Amino acid sequence: MSVILQRERLGASSMAEQVLRNIGPIVLLGPPGAGKGTQSKRITEHYRIPQVSTGDLLREHVKQATPLGVQIRDLMARGELVSDHLVCDIVAWRLREPDVERGFILDGFPRTATQAVWLDSFLKFEFFETGKWAAWLPIVVCIKVDYNKLLLRITGRRTCPVDGTIYNVYSNPPLVDEICDKDGAKLVTRDDDREEVIRERLDAYERQTKPVAEHYQQLSRVVDVNGDLPLDEVTASIVRVIDHNAESAVGSN
Ligand SMILES: [Zn+2]
Repeated sequence: MSVILQRERLGASSMAEQVLRNIGPIVLLGPPGAGKGTQSKRITEHYRIPQVSTGDLLREHVKQATPLGVQIRDLMARGELVSDHLVCDIVAWRLREPDVERGFILDGFPRTATQAVWLDSFLKFEFFETGKWAAWLPIVVCIKVDYNKLLLRITGRRTCPVDGTIYNVYSNPPLVDEICDKDGAKLVTRDDDREEVIRERLDAYERQTKPVAEHYQQLSRVVDVNGDLPLDEVTASIVRVIDHNAESAVGSN
């Protein structure tokens, strides 16, 4: 089902209401290869809300040599990790910009239970108690994928070293095995797409995400969506979760 069809089904007037009302904070969780980046982009476009990415913010602070950026650069130079405290400072600074007032989607944050606890109280003080929002806890959308299907999807990837075209030996094979349709170059498997690398990244994802997912599960804020469906259907599921949440919690403003 195409996005255009879904929009027609929603109707023009309901679309206008949806893009303008308060959506609140959204956390999107999903393992590498589950299409989180694509879905995140679609959600920001659908609701016209920004994505707040801690990776981008850290890089931007370092580049502009802000006081926080200088601290981060020094930590990195010493090979130390950026502390929860510093990451939270950076997120606080970003969430005080006016463009986040209807809502935003978080990327790479919260990454630890400490960050999640901090986020909840920040949102409470800055958005709930100031009367901007009727609720403050984020809605956590978890893109669930079948582990084995995901492995096939990623390990089936072949990349053309000449023009960067990506094929998949299972779902989108080239006309001739292992050869790029466009320029005849021999396709390669990128190191990132090798099974042992993927398994390690999936395990790391599970380990990292678990404390954050558990924190929000205890607060009944986690909704799973089926990430094995086609992209458009996954987007539609995420939109339904966010709309439902906005109606029941944040919609009164
Ligand atoms: Zn090529």
